[in-house]
Amino acid sequence: MVRRALGFLAIALALVLLLGLGGYKLMNSRTVQIAGELTARVETPEKVVALTFDDGPTPADTERILADLAAEDVRATFFVIGENIEKDPESITRIAAAGHELANHSWSHPRLVLMSSDEIAAEIEKTDAALRASGYAGEIQFRPPYGKKLVGLPRYLAAHDRRTIMWDVAVEDYSSPEVRQSAEDLTRLTVEKVQPGSIILLHPWQGRLDTQAAIGPVIRELKGQGYRFVTVNELLAYES
Ligand SMILES: [Zn+2]
Repeated sequence: MVRRALGFLAIALALVLLLGLGGYKLMNSRTVQIAGELTARVETPEKVVALTFDDGPTPADTERILADLAAEDVRATFFVIGENIEKDPESITRIAAAGHELANHSWSHPRLVLMSSDEIAAEIEKTDAALRASGYAGEIQFRPPYGKKLVGLPRYLAAHDRRTIMWDVAVEDYSSPEVRQSAEDLTRLTVEKVQPGSIILLHPWQGRLDTQAAIGPVIRELKGQGYRFVTVNELLAYES
């Protein structure tokens, strides 16, 4: 009897572990979720690519980022944080006026995984409202903070007919503060990974000068390979 009970316990434990691991993988997956549509890249033979910037705006960085994009006549997609819209409305106006796409990256950048559906709704809808209040009229895409989602968030987005926008090219290394990546490293690693329909993710805000310095070279190298830069909404239109 004892042996059977122990056997059962072992199986139960293994199952819990397996489910836990599966859940963890699912939470961080760039390509799989349980409800709604997840887009990490668009399947297309066309050499189109979307450049996306997360977490801004931070006022001191806006000028340089916009100047580098303007110099290359490229439009990017800015997944902004609601709290930052409130703190720096001027940057939002400038980004939109320059023809870039604005998108929703939640209100306070929390891990949405363990939040209630009311909290998830507030994080998303408050940010949409702030973007609309700034005068932005384009379609607003959403990307979860840290790319994390499990059950509540995908279900909320699916119920509201919205996708989860992820990325397939993100080379910045946050594993330790000691890691220093030069603009050259970031450019080379990014360009190596890009394929037709790719979505590039960079974090050029908060004084991240190396990432800022990589924007121009990434654009020039990819243009040299025949790529055209489009916004996320434009990229979605290429989906075959
Ligand atoms: Zn983020």
